[in-house]
Amino acid sequence: MANATVRMSHGSGKGNQELLETVVFPALHPGGVGTLEDAFIFDIPGRRFAFSSDSFVVSPLEFPGGDIGKLAACGTINDLSMMAAKPILLSVSLILEEGLDCSLLSKMLKSLYAVCAAQGVRIACGDTKVVEKGKADRMFINTAGIGIVKVGISLSAANARPGDAVIVSGGIGLHGITVLSQRANLGFASSAVSDCAPLFALSDALLSAVPLTRTLRDATRGGLAAVVNEIAQASKASIILNEPAVPVPPVVRGACAFLGMDPLHIANEGRFVAIVPPENADAAVAALRAHPEGRDACVIGVVAKAGKFPVLLRTAIGGTRPLEMPPGELLPRIC
Ligand code: MG
Repeated sequence: MANATVRMSHGSGKGNQELLETVVFPALHPGGVGTLEDAFIFDIPGRRFAFSSDSFVVSPLEFPGGDIGKLAACGTINDLSMMAAKPILLSVSLILEEGLDCSLLSKMLKSLYAVCAAQGVRIACGDTKVVEKGKADRMFINTAGIGIVKVGISLSAANARPGDAVIVSGGIGLHGITVLSQRANLGFASSAVSDCAPLFALSDALLSAVPLTRTLRDATRGGLAAVVNEIAQASKASIILNEPAVPVPPVVRGACAFLGMDPLHIANEGRFVAIVPPENADAAVAALRAHPEGRDACVIGVVAKAGKFPVLLRTAIGGTRPLEMPPGELLPRIC
């Protein structure tokens, strides 16, 4: 990466992996990093905690189903939830552009607070910086959070075993298509509503029903394709997805067909992938479907022994093709 500059494609998928491995980790983790999880797990005698952080730069700031405030709360709450942690504390740091309307700022922060209040999460600390007009796009938010890990649960992207069932918690692609349709004024996708939602209650219901759950991961940037690739790589296994089984809402299917995009690559903000032992698959799906956010949950694939490709897709016409990690940022500033 000598003489290289940061490109938009470094924002997600393979490009993001490359940036992390060649620049970020060598500088910040010269001793090497272990399995990359949604949150860092640490113990204080008697209690296990999770710690995670995320930044939000979505454009536009408001979209059907959410806004940057709701997203900033849900993003970190969900990363903690994916490590079986009940979120308790959140930090909120703001980068504001000179000229931002204070009533809009207030609206976004009230939206962030509403999620935290409903989830029992306390906003514990934060920071505010203002930059000159033109040096940022209205407002960016960083949140970091701490959660208490559920006793007796141990989740990791490296835990998937051959034979395990791959489950998705609901229809995919709504967040990405919603933000894109607002930005590009796509009339045919104007009915799309983001799936942005806090996932703790849903993930906790699953973990109560199936304590032997191996892995949870929210399918954000890079979509379902990125997440199953990450899990297959971390677990040194392969994942076989049954494409016709993947729930794709009609508005997402239509928009993707028109735009030449793959729903499996589109970002979600309220969907996750769960890997569970095969004998627990029915109980896991039933526990998810008992919640409104999980009503479309279903088994979409199986974990297999490591093969030539981390992820294979069984298509509707009976063929099989590798499903790759998205090459880079398909939809910048989606979250
Ligand atoms: Mg995540």
